[in-house]
Amino acid sequence: MSQFDRTAGAEAGAEADAGAETDVGAEAGAEADGDLTPALRTESRVLPAEVFATLGNDTRVDILRALLELGADEAAVSFTDLFERVDVDDSANFNYHLRQLTGHFVKRSDDGYEFRYPGRKVVSAIFTGTLTERAQVGFFPVEGACYDCDGDLHGWYVDDTLTVGCADCGTIQVSYPFPSGGLDDRTTGELLQAFHHYVRHHYCLAADGVCPECTGTVETTLVRDPEEADLDVAVEHVCGRCNYRLRSTVGVTLLDHAETLLFFSERGVDLNTEPFWGFDWCVSDERTTVVAEDPLRVRLSLPCDGDELRVVVDGSVDVVETALVK
Ligand SMILES: [Zn+2]
Ligand SMILES: [Zn+2]
Repeated sequence: MSQFDRTAGAEAGAEADAGAETDVGAEAGAEADGDLTPALRTESRVLPAEVFATLGNDTRVDILRALLELGADEAAVSFTDLFERVDVDDSANFNYHLRQLTGHFVKRSDDGYEFRYPGRKVVSAIFTGTLTERAQVGFFPVEGACYDCDGDLHGWYVDDTLTVGCADCGTIQVSYPFPSGGLDDRTTGELLQAFHHYVRHHYCLAADGVCPECTGTVETTLVRDPEEADLDVAVEHVCGRCNYRLRSTVGVTLLDHAETLLFFSERGVDLNTEPFWGFDWCVSDERTTVVAEDPLRVRLSLPCDGDELRVVVDGSVDVVETALVK
């Protein structure tokens, strides 16, 4: 079991969506147009199950893809152009499928057809490969050493998840979902760099209170003896909107903490670009000490170049104290 755990509670998420106070229709295109009205609302009451039912048809997916190819991002596409582009002979049948998309995914105006925000997102997802493709990359060597046994690291990509683990003792350093479109045109070195940025930003975004999945509000808490994890203490992020859950080490949340960044950069280490799984304090709790139980406080000791930065965080994972030890 990895200390990095990411699950989206599908059922609970569906309920949360269904119960949400949302607004239908009128301002639906506002977000996509970059028109930030003060009270942003979700654009429809369509339930997730209905969304998938609507999209479970090749013709409808082809229509969305054709809209993109015909430049619907810039200007509305006429019915005729759209019909010619999609490989379907029967115009009544085409019409039927287009109608199913119109409203939630596609907007119809006098000029033709354009994306609504959800339609554009679906197209992005298809092109990034998150919805359709299955990619695999076998073991490839990864720079650095295992925090546990100092053995060689290797990486692999299976089921939309990239994992870096130890070739000797099997300890997983990091395992996190990564869209397979991100594998295209990258060497394994470039892939690892992109993966580092992607995962780091997800955790930092969640730690800042923003859900990486739906942009809803995230609660972050320290958890003592978390289930299914061989950590004494971990950080849990839970989205109040879509129930997206992320679990990580405490150390990972310090990757965008100003004093931590400065401490490392003054010693020639750039935490923005240095793969975080190379730091034992990011992938294990070996440098984490529980200093108080109630309220819970933990201290991390971050070594660099012979010095040490000690950082204390509270139950909400806010930094409450730092000290430099030379
Ligand atoms: Zn190892
Ligand atoms: Zn969310």
